[in-house]
Amino acid sequence: MPRCEHCQQQWTFKQSIKKSFTLVAGMSCPYCETDQYLTKKARRKTSMLNFLPAPSLLLPSIFGLQIYASILFFLVALTIMLVLYPNLMELTSNEETLF
Ligand SMILES: [Zn+2]
Repeated sequence: MPRCEHCQQQWTFKQSIKKSFTLVAGMSCPYCETDQYLTKKARRKTSMLNFLPAPSLLLPSIFGLQIYASILFFLVALTIMLVLYPNLMELTSNEETLF
């Protein structure tokens, strides 16, 4: 689980997921309310996770799978994503630019 760089408090699974769904770049720490950002490394890792559910959209057309099989695959991929995401999160107090 990610740890706040400012107060060193570890975020819970629920907090990490909730924070990661905010649309703004900064995620305020639930303990000290300092804005935290994903490190460049963590951003690269988590962006790879976004590709996990993608094959579920392609599988039916390639293998002629039933739609429920593809939905099942999508849900499994989504679950793996949610479980892995907080473990890949690394926080920093300073926003790092990607480029
Ligand atoms: Zn904090």
